[in-house]
Amino acid sequence: APAPPPARHLFSDPAEVEALRGNLLAWYHRCKRDLPWRALAATEPDADRRGYAVWVSEIMLQQTQVATVINYYNRWMQKWPTLQALAQASLEEVNELWAGLGYYSRGKRLQEAARKVVSELAGRMPRTAEDLQKLLPGVGRYTAGAIASISYGQATGVVDGNVIRVLCRLRCIGADSSSPAVIEQLWDMANALVDRSRPGDFNQALMELGATVCVPKAPLCGECPVKQHCQAWCRKLFGNTPKVPDVEDCGVGDCPLCPPATEPWDSNLGVTNFPRKAAKKPPRAMRTATCVLERRGCHGAPEYLIVQRPSSGLLAGLWEFPSLPLAQDLQEEREREELADHLQVWTGRPVAAKGLRFIGEVIHIFSHIHQTYVVYSLPLDGDMTLDPALSPSRWVTEDEFHASAVSTAMKKVWRA
Ligand code: SF4
Repeated sequence: APAPPPARHLFSDPAEVEALRGNLLAWYHRCKRDLPWRALAATEPDADRRGYAVWVSEIMLQQTQVATVINYYNRWMQKWPTLQALAQASLEEVNELWAGLGYYSRGKRLQEAARKVVSELAGRMPRTAEDLQKLLPGVGRYTAGAIASISYGQATGVVDGNVIRVLCRLRCIGADSSSPAVIEQLWDMANALVDRSRPGDFNQALMELGATVCVPKAPLCGECPVKQHCQAWCRKLFGNTPKVPDVEDCGVGDCPLCPPATEPWDSNLGVTNFPRKAAKKPPRAMRTATCVLERRGCHGAPEYLIVQRPSSGLLAGLWEFPSLPLAQDLQEEREREELADHLQVWTGRPVAAKGLRFIGEVIHIFSHIHQTYVVYSLPLDGDMTLDPALSPSRWVTEDEFHASAVSTAMKKVWRA
């Protein structure tokens, strides 16, 4: 078994733990933001509905800002206020409501999991973090802990990006915070720290602190309710005086939680010395040619062809203008020719590369892909029969385009 981490990185003094919990909870009570899912979790008497409300919010909040989520959350809960209602929705409806929120597989998995709860668990949400993680597709360790503690009062911790930052600063943890060993240590710490009588409030308070006070770049340490328990703050104020924990002083050998010896404390960074992460891989560059095919609809209004993406992979099941991934460094002429060949599949007749009008390039950054859309347009004369043997496709007006399940990237293409 690995050696236990040095005590200075842990919360080993019960009196300090009690004081930290009390200060944090009192601050949360005074300062927390009013958010719709918090109101629902606090007032909903039905445990399954409470669990569902928290679950939806947690899935939406993954990788997405609170301000963006609020509107989507309210519309979702209005449309599908219960698990049962969501289980009866179609994937198309789910994708339409999710359009613009990003990471589209989240909505699909949420709906699949709702169907599973209804059909296999008699509509009853699992009540513990362990069962939630085991039984619900798309529910990981963090989401399971959040649902169980906030909805059902289970005394279990949570570790998300905000908690990682706060804990690493509180205990001067400078080893790579994305490494499995450090993450495991942070889970142990979160489970030990969580308040036994108000676990949901405590977990939300820790995350709220990370989101509003202990922020990544310019934390508001002067206003922080737990600054007297924060080793990074002490270190910034007092440097290496004997009264202050010295993180390089963890004992003999390599401390598994200290910064590497090659990256010592940088006094210019202050508390933002923590957390530290190994450098991220740069996003992969991709180029995709896309074409807005336009025709006159039966009422004279312009219509545009959209086609559905495959049901797995990036932007699964969403609609887009006919698109074709391109090899890097292709000459423009060759790009046009390849796109023209591809469009022929949809139009059912030859498309002249010269007839494609170049509109511009649109850049969209996905989490791991730096995508450049090379945008063309092509007006079509006469009617065109869509081949049902191909991927689903349809002609839409401008309003219908915006109401369809299209990604933010395609909306940018539209604006171009
Ligand atoms: Fe974060 Fe500063 Fe509070 Fe420490 S004192 S927890 S670094 S905000």
